[in-house]
Amino acid sequence: MKNVPPGIQTIRGVMGVCHLLWGPPGEAVLIDTGLIGEPAQIRWRLRQHGLGPRNVKAILLTHGHIDHAGNVAWAKAWTGAPVYAHPAEQAHIDGTYPYTGTSRWCGRLERAGRAVLRVGQPAPIDVFLADGDELPFWGGLRVVHLPGHTAGHCGFYSARHDLLFSGDLFASYFFNAHLPPPILNSRPELIPASLEKARQLNPRLMVPQHYDVLDGVLHRQRFDRLLARRAARRRPPAVI
Ligand SMILES: [Zn+2]
Ligand SMILES: [Zn+2]
Repeated sequence: MKNVPPGIQTIRGVMGVCHLLWGPPGEAVLIDTGLIGEPAQIRWRLRQHGLGPRNVKAILLTHGHIDHAGNVAWAKAWTGAPVYAHPAEQAHIDGTYPYTGTSRWCGRLERAGRAVLRVGQPAPIDVFLADGDELPFWGGLRVVHLPGHTAGHCGFYSARHDLLFSGDLFASYFFNAHLPPPILNSRPELIPASLEKARQLNPRLMVPQHYDVLDGVLHRQRFDRLLARRAARRRPPAVI
């Protein structure tokens, strides 16, 4: 854990990383709920901090894919906290999203996950998120709508720490950032504008939800390299 402010607890699952954010004292907020194994970790980490389910004040979802929202029904029932997500994510959470084109594979994978892992029970979103909403958690989190991966995909920006939790805008592993594979993106035509929006926000620190090590500067550097690679591909070859 490097280059991140105190108060971030990683909850590492088989596919991605959820985050518990601590503070102010006696309060915690969950960003995403994971797929399998996360509930035990969440319970354990809260206990370590002398906290229980009622100390969780909100369940924030970056989006409704099963590896992020798989335990949302459990988290909501266990904590009693409201679920915050963009309204376009309800169908993903409920497993009723009408995937089309190559992203139909995403729907098939999610259906298989639901059947085999017995996660992904539907749960209603309690508070609809919109771009620019200011949430009163962890010293303030601003909703940054970053559609493309899904229509309602959102990041959460902490101005206090100049840190963007960027959800699945990109994944960051092994020296590089990369976009989620095409089969997982339901609105790929919106991705370039969301990448540009994150670039203009220009956070010092970035924390995605799929990564190797927790290092906000490293993920920001990898994000910049991803943008540079994309820009180089778009540039016409030099005329000699
Ligand atoms: Zn996703
Ligand atoms: Zn994901």
